[in-house]
Amino acid sequence: MLTALKGNIIEALTPDTLGIHPHSYLVLEDGRVVGIYPVLPDALGSASVTDYGDALILQSFADMHLHGPQYEFMGTGMDRPLLQWLEAYAFPTEARYADPAYAREKYRILARDLLQNGTTQVCMFSSLHADSTLILMEELEKAGVTGYVGKVNMDRNAPPYLCETTEESKKETLRWLDECKRFTLVKPILTPRFAPSCTDELLTFLGKLKAERNLPVQSHLSENLGEIALVGQLFPDCPQYWEVYDKYGLFDSKTLMAHCVHSDARERAAIAMRGVHPVHCASSNNSLMSGISPVADMLREEQQVCLGSDVSGGTTLSMLHTMANSISASKDRGSLQQDASQALSIEQAYYMATSAGKVFLGLKPGFSEGELLHAVVLDDTHLPKLPNITLRERLLRAAYRLDDRHIRAVYSEGIRRL
Ligand SMILES: [Zn+2]
Repeated sequence: MLTALKGNIIEALTPDTLGIHPHSYLVLEDGRVVGIYPVLPDALGSASVTDYGDALILQSFADMHLHGPQYEFMGTGMDRPLLQWLEAYAFPTEARYADPAYAREKYRILARDLLQNGTTQVCMFSSLHADSTLILMEELEKAGVTGYVGKVNMDRNAPPYLCETTEESKKETLRWLDECKRFTLVKPILTPRFAPSCTDELLTFLGKLKAERNLPVQSHLSENLGEIALVGQLFPDCPQYWEVYDKYGLFDSKTLMAHCVHSDARERAAIAMRGVHPVHCASSNNSLMSGISPVADMLREEQQVCLGSDVSGGTTLSMLHTMANSISASKDRGSLQQDASQALSIEQAYYMATSAGKVFLGLKPGFSEGELLHAVVLDDTHLPKLPNITLRERLLRAAYRLDDRHIRAVYSEGIRRL
C-alpha cells in the first residue's frame, strides 16, 4: 500500500550534510521508503497522504548507550561522585531486577517513555539477570523499539549481591542467547560491563563467543581517570585501556564503546583504525564530572561517533536534549581551550543522534530507499514565527526548546506507533 507523510522533512545524510526538503512528500510502500518528492509524482498519485502541515518530519532517534534498570532513579543522587553514586543508587537498584515481576513493571514504562521521546532504536545495557533482560527485550519489541540489548557480565569488582561467578556468567549468557532467538526487532549484544568487572577467563569466553556467533559488543572505555588507573593495575600487560578489549577480540567494527572521554591520540587512532563506534554521552560526562570529550576532533578523525543518553548517569531520556547537551559540552571545551573548532554543529549533533546509530545497526544514513520508516514528527509551530528562519535553524532550535510534549507522531519499522 502506498502512503505518504507531508511536511518539512530533514534527514542526516553525513556528519556535515543535512537533506532538507521543505513541504515535501515522504512516500512509503508498505512502510518502506520509496523517496522524497517536492510534488507527488503521477505514478505515486494514489498514495494516501497524512499532512503534518508546517511540522518537522525528522528521523527518529537512536540512543546508543543507556542502562535500562537505572531509568527509575534518573536525576537522583546527582550530588554524589561516581563511586558513591554507584553504591548508593545504581547497584542496589540493579539488584532489584532479580525479580522478573519488578522488571516487567519498570521496563514497560521505559519502553513507553522511549517511544514517547521519539527514540525507536537503542543499544542498551540490562542488568546481569538473564530473565529480566529477556523481559526488557519483550517490552521494547512490544512498544516497537528496535536495536540491541545486552545481559551484563560481571564476575568481579562488584558488590556481592550483584556479582556472578564466572561459571554462572557463562551459563546464563548462553541460556539468554538461546532464548533471544524468538525476537525479531531486538537482538542480543555481548555486554561486559567494563574491563575491571570481568576476569580474564570471562573476557576470553566472551571474545570466543563473539567470534563463533558473529555477535556485536558494547562496553565502556576511558570514561574517567580513576577507571583508567584501575585498568592499568588489573591488566599490567596492556599499555592502554583499549588493548584489554583488543586482547580478547572485543574491539572491532561491531563494537560500541561508551564515552572515550580520555582517549589520547594513540587510543583514538586504534578506535578509528578498527572502526569501533564511540558513544558520546554529554549529560553523563557532566553529571559524573568525567571530563569533556573531544567529539569534534573524533569526527575530524572520521570516527563513527554516536550519541547516548547514558541514563542514569545522564539526566534525560530525550535525544533532542542530548543533542543540545552535546553542542553545549563541545562549546565548554572550545571555551576552555580557546578553540572554536571544538564546537559541534547541528548537522553533526543530528547525525550522531540518528544516522550514526542506524549505521551501527546495519542500516544506511538518512531516509534511505527500501528501508522501513523510522521517523518522528515534531511540532514547533507554537514557537515564534521568526522572519526568514530556515529549516536548519528550526532543527537547532528544536534541540534546545522541544521535548516529548511536542512529538505528534512516531513511526518505527514502517508503522505509526504513537
Ligand atoms: Zn554506561
